Amino acid sequence: MAIALCPGSFDPVTNGHIDIIERTARHFDDVIVAVTRNPQKSGSRFSIEERQVMLEEVVGHLENVRIEWLTGLVVDFARLHGAAAIVKGLRAVSDFDYELQMAQMNQRLSAIDTFFISTSPQYSFLSSSLVCEVAKFGGDVTSMVPPSVAARLEAKFALGEDS
Ligand code: ADP
Repeated sequence: MAIALCPGSFDPVTNGHIDIIERTARHFDDVIVAVTRNPQKSGSRFSIEERQVMLEEVVGHLENVRIEWLTGLVVDFARLHGAAAIVKGLRAVSDFDYELQMAQMNQRLSAIDTFFISTSPQYSFLSSSLVCEVAKFGGDVTSMVPPSVAARLEAKFALGEDS
């Protein structure tokens, strides 16, 4: 029974994330999408509860995928849940340096391997932060995020929230 971990902040989930989760789910028996509290970024746009709900709405059709909150080290979480691998999406060379360093650190800490999936070309420019920037100024993000997420972004920025 091979379990994979897809960690990330998913703030909010985009079509690029969903593509990586769906493809991971084809190769592993079980996939845990681990939502981080996002320590290295200045502040979360959506609460961890909101991010979890959005993920559940859009990956609910995948029977072997579940959503959990991640606190602490990814490797400890992986060990606790019996995960055999961490799976990350790679968009561009700019992702590579950091992801390689992280994968090697995790390997050193726990001998867990990280598998990389290259982004589908139509999503290579997509990031949660950029999507939020566009939505904040009224841009159309309906081709970049699922409809439920687009609606939440619209509601959030219509209320004048800008965090
Ligand atoms: P972001 O970097 O957009 O804030 P996360 O921290 O939520 O995203 O990233 C979680 C995982 O999803 C990471 O492995 C990241 O590289 C991957 N990912 C994010 N956006 C995409 C995309 N458009 N295509 C492929 N992988 C992606």
